[in-house]
Amino acid sequence: MLKENLQRVEERIAASCDRSGRRRDEVTLIAVSKTKPVSTLQEAYDRGVRVFGENKVQELVDKYEALPRDIHWHMIGHLQRNKVKYIIDKVDLIHSVDSVRLAETIDKEAKKHDLTANILIEVNVAKEDTKFGVLPEELDAMIDEISRFSNICVRGLMTIAPFVKNAEENRAVFARLRKLSVDIAGKNIDNVTMGFLSMGMTNDYEIAVEEGATLIRVGTGIFGERDYSHV
Ligand SMILES: *Cc1c(COP(=O)(O)O)cnc(C)c1O
Repeated sequence: MLKENLQRVEERIAASCDRSGRRRDEVTLIAVSKTKPVSTLQEAYDRGVRVFGENKVQELVDKYEALPRDIHWHMIGHLQRNKVKYIIDKVDLIHSVDSVRLAETIDKEAKKHDLTANILIEVNVAKEDTKFGVLPEELDAMIDEISRFSNICVRGLMTIAPFVKNAEENRAVFARLRKLSVDIAGKNIDNVTMGFLSMGMTNDYEIAVEEGATLIRVGTGIFGERDYSHV
């Protein structure tokens, strides 16, 4: 099933790139493997998958230890400050930074390892009460503050779009995130580049690609439904 799922997702990404005049290599597929066992990730790895996304620190660390070292790990879930230290040297990118205090902790831990942490700012574009993320009108001020941290590079923006029946309904959300990133890029702030737009999940990644996503986070579409009964 994994083989067919990966093929189907790959075909759809390619079709979305065609429709919007983008090159396939502008879009990175992140296989969101949360709740799935190591054996399933290994199977995906054996089929060529090298970029995985996890949303829990302990689970990411356990899988990091168990799997090959050439995997690129992305932290996509809400991150508590006291857990930053466990993943700082293991992940390529933290997608979910939504406060200056969290960024400050990331900066501090990055310094200890003598590395520059790559982060995205999570934006609550649709202003849903249930979602993490900075509100669009607070984004500029937050980025100004975070740009002062010497061991952080802000590489772009991330959003989790609302759950909708028809993915088309999220097109405006994705377009809005893209517009925000273009505006920020135009300001040429130190330590801030806007090369990455992380948006689109199983239900809406095709629309997200059409609207400029460079990172799409697909779980169910690759691995099937998640089973939370034993976690
Ligand atoms: C779980 C998760 C995904 C993947 O969701 P699917 O609908 O299964 O593709 C993407 N992004 C984040 C932040 C997630 O937590």
